[in-house]
Amino acid sequence: MPGSIRLHVDAALAEGASIITTPAQAHYLGTVMRRGAGDEILLFNGRDGEFSAHIETVGRGLATLRVRQQTRVQADGPDLWLAFALLKRDATDLVVQKATELGAAELRPVITARANTHRMNADRLTAIAVEAAEQSERLTVPLMLPAQPLASLLTTWPRERRLFAAIERSTPQAMPSARGPRALLVGPEGGFAPAELDLLRAHSFVTPVSLGPRVLRAETACIAGLALLQAGDCR
Ligand code: SAM
Repeated sequence: MPGSIRLHVDAALAEGASIITTPAQAHYLGTVMRRGAGDEILLFNGRDGEFSAHIETVGRGLATLRVRQQTRVQADGPDLWLAFALLKRDATDLVVQKATELGAAELRPVITARANTHRMNADRLTAIAVEAAEQSERLTVPLMLPAQPLASLLTTWPRERRLFAAIERSTPQAMPSARGPRALLVGPEGGFAPAELDLLRAHSFVTPVSLGPRVLRAETACIAGLALLQAGDCR
């Protein structure tokens, strides 16, 4: 069903199951998209693949849906995480939306010395990720972690996952083609502080990489880096 409405739900999906939507989903279906009883939509929950479903009722506070058949089996995307310094609100929103479209499996906000802010609204960012997953036909929603300081990110980092740290100007190495568990780290608008660069270079699982000769906005660096890191990965 190209162009169909897709909704992420928490409930298990199986043929014949009955699903009750959230009030926001009911509003979206009935008021925003003007769908009613009998109309078909698509559902996914990150575990059971994608299913078609039809609307049974749409009311003010909820809609009821009946699950029909599976349209896609569950599949994982690239094994790719994004760690990014928290930015101003609109820029962080953009990073979360675009990283979701680009298939990032985990989003790890990082607090750095020159961070634009230390605050994040996890519920709001998760809602942005869910909407981007629905729109981009993903079968999963990226895991949104709480913000953590750079030092703690590095201390608890799983050693088998290579961390490609995007560092402007000083790094000659272009992004290598990579497969397997990997992640991109992007700094704040002010860049990483010298002590943070030393800390990054002290960890053997970190590979400093360049994204080209121009200094990119942090949001652009996230988007370009994620695209390059999955260039050899067609899943
Ligand atoms: N304020 C810094 C400066 O003028 O030197 C620039 C920081 S840049 C706006 C924000 C982040 O994007 C950086 O910390 C880095 O992670 C990433 N970035 C931007 N351009 C890059 C490039 N050409 N190569 C690698 N990383 C880049």
